[in-house]
Amino acid sequence: MTAQYDSLWQYILKELNKSYDETTYQELFEPITSVHKVKNGLLFMIVPSLHIKNRINRLYLNKINNLAENMAEEKVRFKFVTKEELENEEKENERLIQNVYRAGNLTSVYTFENLVIGKSNNFAFRMAMKVADQPGIVANPFYIFGDVGLGKTHLMQAIGNYILDNNVSHKVLYTKADGFIEDFITLLRKSQMDDFNNKYRDIDVLLVDDIQILSSAEGTQREFFKLFDYLYMNNKQIVITSDKPASELKNFMPRLTSRFEAGLIVDIQVPDLEHRINILERKLMAYDDKITLPEEVFEFIASAFVTNIREMEGALIRLISYAKIYDITNITVDIAKDILEPLIKTRTRSDVLNENNYDKIQSVVADFYNITLEDLIGKKRHSKYTLPRHLAMYIIKQKFDLPYKTIGSLFGDRDHSTILSAVDKMDTEIKTNREVKLAYETIVKKINFVKLRW
Ligand code: ADP
Ligand code: MG
Repeated sequence: MTAQYDSLWQYILKELNKSYDETTYQELFEPITSVHKVKNGLLFMIVPSLHIKNRINRLYLNKINNLAENMAEEKVRFKFVTKEELENEEKENERLIQNVYRAGNLTSVYTFENLVIGKSNNFAFRMAMKVADQPGIVANPFYIFGDVGLGKTHLMQAIGNYILDNNVSHKVLYTKADGFIEDFITLLRKSQMDDFNNKYRDIDVLLVDDIQILSSAEGTQREFFKLFDYLYMNNKQIVITSDKPASELKNFMPRLTSRFEAGLIVDIQVPDLEHRINILERKLMAYDDKITLPEEVFEFIASAFVTNIREMEGALIRLISYAKIYDITNITVDIAKDILEPLIKTRTRSDVLNENNYDKIQSVVADFYNITLEDLIGKKRHSKYTLPRHLAMYIIKQKFDLPYKTIGSLFGDRDHSTILSAVDKMDTEIKTNREVKLAYETIVKKINFVKLRW
């Protein structure tokens, strides 16, 4: 795998030999004969001592990387390390891998201690602690909802980890709802329902992540209902996460959602700026406790990444990794801006859309009429679809006053005149047709309500 890079290195050696005097060449470069390994675009080269590594990094690394850039098709960079450093790094990696998973599919870093608490998750956290202290007794099921990347999975697994830490004999099982569907379908097909029951019934705590995925999966829902009742009757703790409150789950069996509603429902909101900065500080410490960042850099990242902690964390890691690779010791806001720019650009684009939430308007309308989003946007001409479609166009026009062409692009690239006539038509309909007027008013109310949680 390293062969192609070996020849790149040979080429670079030749160039270095031309550029520098014989003693330097022989001392620094000649002993390095091959690429040790390649990882994420970094070519690891082993050097005999820290002293040589530092000299190369200080004086020659730029030149070498420039040569590589001119020569190699893909972007690669050289990293010079001593054998010792490499071994330490590998050991550390192994330790991390070994520690990541524990019984029941849990990730060991998702603990209560690692969760930074603020206003947005305080209640959910306190209740989660209670549930973990007395599984099956305090709140069953315990239902956590909130938007993507706000720490639902983390909180849920923290409950599991805590229970395991307190009592190793407890059986905790974490599963994503799609994993549950998969298990159900495969084992059903192989007529191995016994295995299914063994896996899911012989436990003390069941953690089901992203339950909304079960929407419309009727067979699986039925099976989940049976399992739920079995565990519930036996006082086994059930924890569920979702992107919406139980009452808003669509295409779910009512007996299932009413079971969810009978438990304790908590939500996690977007953390405020101070809270986000605290999270960043903690993540940095966990990632590398030797690195420090100036306050304004934390503030910059926390202000640029607002709605998703996972993205914010990703930004921090990217910044730190770049700084390490390029040996930047003083990370300023300007450097952070440069390094994070690609992330901020794509995110802003998706945020603008989020702010305006055209897609959410489309889903509210589709939900109201009980049709799929695909049909709402699609080409079917039955009035069952065209009325909701036109109404959605009308509401988007009214709320955001986008150009007709732009609205057209939100509906499978329809042209300007199609949208124009749909909007006109709806204007008249709402004035003249009571039923449409009522639908319109209900949907707008619903949109305004949902918006509080967007
Ligand atoms: P969700 O399941 O809601 O999409 P996750 O639980 O996967 O979100 O969280 C995304 C990332 O953000 C994880 O790495 C998690 O550790 C981190 N995270 C979220 N909220 C917090 C918090 N309050 N404190 C520390 N880390 C958090
Ligand atoms: Mg999750």
